[in-house]
Amino acid sequence: SLAIHWFRRDLRLDDNTALNAALATGLPVMCVFIFDPNILRHLKIKNDSRITFIFDTLQKLDADLRARGSMLRIFFDAPLSVYERLFQSFNVRGIWCNEDYEPYARERDAAVAGLCKAKGAEFHAHKDHVVFAPHEVLKDDGKPYNVFTPYSRRWLARFADEPPVYHELASKGKFLPATADHQNPGLRAIGFERSAIAVPPPLFDAALIEHYSDTRDIPSVAGTSRLGVHLRFGTVSIRALAALAARLSQKFLAELIWREFYQMIIWYYPHTTKRPFRAIYEQLKFPGSEADFKAWTRGETGYPLVDAGMRELVATGFMHNRVRMLVASFLTKHLLCDWRWGEHFFAQHLLDFELASNVGGWQWSAGIGVDAAPYFRIFNPSEQQKKFDPKNIYIDRWLKNDNFFGTEARAPIVDHRFARERCLKFFSTVHP
Ligand code: FAD
Repeated sequence: SLAIHWFRRDLRLDDNTALNAALATGLPVMCVFIFDPNILRHLKIKNDSRITFIFDTLQKLDADLRARGSMLRIFFDAPLSVYERLFQSFNVRGIWCNEDYEPYARERDAAVAGLCKAKGAEFHAHKDHVVFAPHEVLKDDGKPYNVFTPYSRRWLARFADEPPVYHELASKGKFLPATADHQNPGLRAIGFERSAIAVPPPLFDAALIEHYSDTRDIPSVAGTSRLGVHLRFGTVSIRALAALAARLSQKFLAELIWREFYQMIIWYYPHTTKRPFRAIYEQLKFPGSEADFKAWTRGETGYPLVDAGMRELVATGFMHNRVRMLVASFLTKHLLCDWRWGEHFFAQHLLDFELASNVGGWQWSAGIGVDAAPYFRIFNPSEQQKKFDPKNIYIDRWLKNDNFFGTEARAPIVDHRFARERCLKFFSTVHP
């Protein structure tokens, strides 16, 4: 009999809660990763950078497991079909995995748990992606918070009481020996091609985190950790990072708490992945045009900081947070385009795309989410540029030598004052 560890957003061997629990059973552990066609079919870019990153990370995991005499079994099929087959071929005691709070993942996991039950096997989902699971930081009356500051206060109080513990790979357990009867699919076989965007390995840069509150808002400097993608796919342990943050920077820790706040929101309010947090905003029918949206995606709005940000995103899969806030506000408030268009575009391009944080960030920027920027706070793109890129360093980096932008300044797609008035009028239809 054997135990299965199912890798999903936890692509590492160290400090992996479910993997350690599987190893602790004393049974040989089979490691599995599944490329799920239900997820992949939403990805429209052939050389999607996230798929290349996952693929390369899996090769490394496989090599690490082979060094231990085992292997990673990678599949390309619906999880239920994969597990049906594994139940037929092996005597599976159970499946161990780490919790995933997204709506689709919840449905998928419930179905796999159901299959396990039908087969008389166990199904265990562990907390691993967050320091505190959604139900662990609630108000006194047991209800979820929808304002960040009191949530974070409670989060910090709990963190002080229960500092996270880092667990290396359990040395007592054993992995199932490798066999030659399974072929892992290549990138082509799952329908993708290699991306040119390379992801730097995770770096816990203590000096950067220490100075984070001074450097985090300047898009031209490398003042943020770039760990988003590694947190998303679990190539770093959130427990290790949160412990470091608590020692070095409260501001950095606060950002990790925002991440958990949004994980909590998506768990208790799964409708927010598609609709605004508050029902009144569902009445807002954003009138923005396809043409304006296209110009925004191409970085052709004539507002240099907006355009530079969009160029950075498409070229690198990253955009600085300060600029994410501006471009999202610009699309929804200046161009009155539906926030879901922007959310979807970010979802296709961001290396660190995380559904909960992306939806949270978009609804916050559009003024229609939990604890959001109010609708009447409308960023002035030129003022933002003066404040956060006063020497035009960031803008020059992304807009100079640009094939289709040229060196001449582009006329603004919309006048700021006009757009501001139009936006206030638009929102006043629900805020009389
Ligand atoms: P750092 O500044 O070094 O922060 C460390 C980590 O804290 C990040 O990696 C991230 O995990 C977390 N974090 C930081 N800020 C936030 C925040 N505001 N909300 C939630 N978590 C945060 N973040 C994502 O991880 N995925 C997304 O898809 C995403 N989409 C966004 C969309 C919009 C419109 C906005 C305004 C923000 C979005 N963010 C998203 C939040 C934030 O911009 C990124 O987490 C951050 O820029 C990533 O860079 P970094 O890893 O260098 O972050």
